[in-house]
Amino acid sequence: MKRWPFHGGVKLPGHKEESTTRPVEPAPLPKRLILPLSQHIGAPAEPVVAVGDKVLKGEVIAKAGGFVSAPVHASSSGTVTAIGEHPVPHPSGLSAPCITIETDGKDRCLKHKQQTDFRQLDPATIREQIREAGIVGLGGAGFPAFIKLNPGKPVNTLILNGAECEPYITCDDMLMRERAGEVLRGLLIIQHAVQAQRCIIAIEDNKPQAAHAMQHALQRLAADPIDIVTVPACYPAGGEKQLIKIVTGQEVPSGGLPIQIGVVCHNVATAAAVCRAVEHGEPLLSRYVTVTGSAVAEPRNLDVLIGTPVLELLNHCGTDFNNLEEVIMGGPMMGIALADHGVPLVKTGNCLLAVSRGEIEQRPSVMPCIRCGNCADACPVSLLPQQLYWHARSKDFDKIQEYDLFDCIECGCCAYVCPSNIPLVHYYRFAKSEIRSLQEQKRRADIARERHEHRERRLAREKAERAARHARKKPGTDDKAKKAAIQAALERARASKQGAPPDDV
Ligand code: SF4
Ligand code: SF4
Repeated sequence: MKRWPFHGGVKLPGHKEESTTRPVEPAPLPKRLILPLSQHIGAPAEPVVAVGDKVLKGEVIAKAGGFVSAPVHASSSGTVTAIGEHPVPHPSGLSAPCITIETDGKDRCLKHKQQTDFRQLDPATIREQIREAGIVGLGGAGFPAFIKLNPGKPVNTLILNGAECEPYITCDDMLMRERAGEVLRGLLIIQHAVQAQRCIIAIEDNKPQAAHAMQHALQRLAADPIDIVTVPACYPAGGEKQLIKIVTGQEVPSGGLPIQIGVVCHNVATAAAVCRAVEHGEPLLSRYVTVTGSAVAEPRNLDVLIGTPVLELLNHCGTDFNNLEEVIMGGPMMGIALADHGVPLVKTGNCLLAVSRGEIEQRPSVMPCIRCGNCADACPVSLLPQQLYWHARSKDFDKIQEYDLFDCIECGCCAYVCPSNIPLVHYYRFAKSEIRSLQEQKRRADIARERHEHRERRLAREKAERAARHARKKPGTDDKAKKAAIQAALERARASKQGAPPDDV
């Protein structure tokens, strides 16, 4: 099958072998599970339990807080001991609302439904089951999966993303090696839900065992034509738009979504979770996580309950805390450094990278931009990173948007190749957050202004109506009263034409 190159990208040392030498093992059941209410894009989930409640594994403890949201389930049995703020994985070390469960060690489970043949289910039922299972994009995006299963347009190509292009991370690789059948059945369920005409499974060529396992499972399943495509290992080949370009030759328009060109893309781990949800009614309770890095004595992949404290996973894998520089959740390019090791593993947490002191070279000092253009050559989105940098520095937020700042996927390729060591992505994140905050301020100001104007109109109308009533009561003022009544009616008509909200706003 033909493959198309994408612009830019960088070749990075993989560091994948370290964590793929042993089979995946379940992580020990922690004493405490901390489940953040917001582990996804969209509205936070809303608790449906209280402190002191006993819960079973798989029980809903927080319902979806809106359409774009996902419920949270107890990942083991125990007692709810707290509902409140707790540190969560976030670059600034933020706290956020979480539900804490003291586990009882019994791991007692809600009874799951009997196995169902998905072909008997209509797409809407499948979407509902996936929504109820709390499945979000497990490749890192965290977007509620059921929404992507309702694209609202015909799907020509469904792509299963097994590229896993970022160094060190191997959980998808191990998942495909060990649970290829599950991944494949999940793909078929998604295909059925979106009625995709064709399916492609894309795997980087540095994962031959995973590709072989998937091929083997495909033969056993004798499924409809599905192409397994190996793509050259080049970061960020696993970026959604880059992968679409590689396997279809099509470009997703700037600011657009893949469905605009008839493509839907899901991660392999999401597909496996979909399989368990639809076949067994099992919500998203655990995921494969790579625990690796030079500070870890036994790098490996673990099957981890969502909500397990990161510290327990680091301990389990023999982390040398005396020699620990930092722990990154995710990979070295796009991951976030954890300010607190007590944070829990969340649904999107695919890797814990424990970096030892001395492994990171002393960061060379930042020099002025020499306009070499290396960053533009490396940018997989064909942006002009140095221009973005200048406009972010000068806080010219109008100009920076003209240069498509919001198309930047924060992959870090530009900073990686920059000879002046400029932390370019920091500038882009800063500019994005400033623009979002200004937009939010403007939105609030618009609402306040609209309310004020409506109130002024209402007061004027009421005044006119009062005057009309007053005039009617006075003998010999019939003409004046009529005029005032007409005026009041005209005011009302004008206000309703302008779509004014109800009087009590
Ligand atoms: S790579 Fe660095 S030095 Fe070169 S143009 Fe880009 S920002 Fe400037
Ligand atoms: S971080 Fe943004 S600007 Fe830099 S290479 Fe990646 S997409 Fe391009």
